Amino acid sequence: MNVHKALISGASIAGLSTAFWLSKAGWEVTMIERARAFRDGGQNVDVRGIAREVLQKMGLEDQVRQQTTTEEGTAFVNEKGQVVGAFPVEGSDGMTAELEILRGDLARVVIEALPPHVHIRYGDWIEQVSNHADHVDVQLHSGQTETYDLLIIAEGIRSRTRDQVFGDRVSRNELGLNIAYGTIERETGDDRWWRWYTATGGRQISLRPDNQGTIRAMLAFKDDKHNLASLPHEQALAELKVIFAGAGWQDKRVIEGFATSKDVYFDYLTQIKMSTYSEGSVCVTGDAAWCVTPIGGGGSSLALIGGYVLAAFLSQQDSNESASISNGLDQYEQWMRPMVDKAQSLPPGTPDLFYPQTKVGVGTMQTFIRIASFGPFRKLASRIGHVARTKQELPEIRMAQTATTPQASL
Ligand SMILES: Cc1cc2nc3c(=O)[nH]c(=O)nc-3n(C[C@H](O)[C@H](O)[C@H](O)COP(=O)(O)OP(=O)(O)OC[C@H]3O[C@@H](n4cnc5c(N)ncnc54)[C@H](O)[C@@H]3O)c2cc1C
Repeated sequence: MNVHKALISGASIAGLSTAFWLSKAGWEVTMIERARAFRDGGQNVDVRGIAREVLQKMGLEDQVRQQTTTEEGTAFVNEKGQVVGAFPVEGSDGMTAELEILRGDLARVVIEALPPHVHIRYGDWIEQVSNHADHVDVQLHSGQTETYDLLIIAEGIRSRTRDQVFGDRVSRNELGLNIAYGTIERETGDDRWWRWYTATGGRQISLRPDNQGTIRAMLAFKDDKHNLASLPHEQALAELKVIFAGAGWQDKRVIEGFATSKDVYFDYLTQIKMSTYSEGSVCVTGDAAWCVTPIGGGGSSLALIGGYVLAAFLSQQDSNESASISNGLDQYEQWMRPMVDKAQSLPPGTPDLFYPQTKVGVGTMQTFIRIASFGPFRKLASRIGHVARTKQELPEIRMAQTATTPQASL
């Protein structure tokens, strides 16, 4: 029987999930990651819907549960910090999910579970791809040219290799929404709730607890013409300060905290839509293929699921048949696409409705939240967190007989 060889480019959630499962299926897996070392960091992500089943199959649910951010729910507050409506953790997929974890912690849990024969080469990336029906040649920045049966691009939203291979089959849907994330100090008065404040001018401030004794802050604003992520860091910070002046609630605390925070980063929310997830011997997964943005939600869940589904369909093929990989890739796309489409189809008026410009708009939103937080309405409102759910069963994965036990490989 042929042993297939895969190169996975990008070692975050999508790449790591794919490496985990593909190596279990008996593939020889090599990973490259542009960063020089394991990328820790990142704010809150969650594991929702059928991604919990993938995590259980990995045997990692307990480890994730032990490292959750301990958030107890989501509370919308007014300018004085008074709670307008509260949504405690109820069931698995409310506004605060049952499994909320810092991105870096989730990545570490998966990387430590990789079989020892999966190698990650840090500080390297692809310069050129030569894509053929039955193999792919990659020229790496480090100088080598290597040949694989399949190249899996898991490089996140700004993937260069994806753009090189798929060109105009990649489309971008900018949502006109800027978000600045950063870690700030915890203060007396901070509790274990996610506090969310909406100000006039399409501005939002949110503070979330973590399990590291700090607070994860977010400043978001709606403006189609202003893309802070495209500016030099110091300039973006300065503009953010101007935009949030007079926003109210804890605006000064967050702006001052961001001035000294080491991990502030800016995102200009953009959905990635691709007319195909594969061509020849190259495929895409995770944000590189279908970035849903925090507005759609579930990016990490879809990344975990994508890795499993891709490996499962590839494992079901007869490895001696020439069309086996392309059949597996087609099935992977057919399975993933409905779930991705659902996560990307935003309700009418989104995100504008959630970023009101006027006092009247903010008041209307608060009234809506107050009503939505009561009894039966609360369950209905919590459906906003129902992403990565599907009626489809996860495909079965055929594990290789030689799959080895997990071992740390950081
Ligand atoms: C450091 C970091 C912090 C993040 N913080 C948040 C957050 O706070 N909130 C949130 O909702 N989402 C965050 N995300 C995004 C979140 O991880 C993804 O939306 C989701 O988990 C899907 O993951 P992904 O693996 O598809 O993409 P990503 O997590 O974006 O990972 C892509 C990986 O590919 C690597 N890479 C990029 N280009 C190349 C290249 N040319 N060659 C090789 N490797 C390459 C990157 O270094 C990265 O490790 C963060 C991602 C990263 C990398």
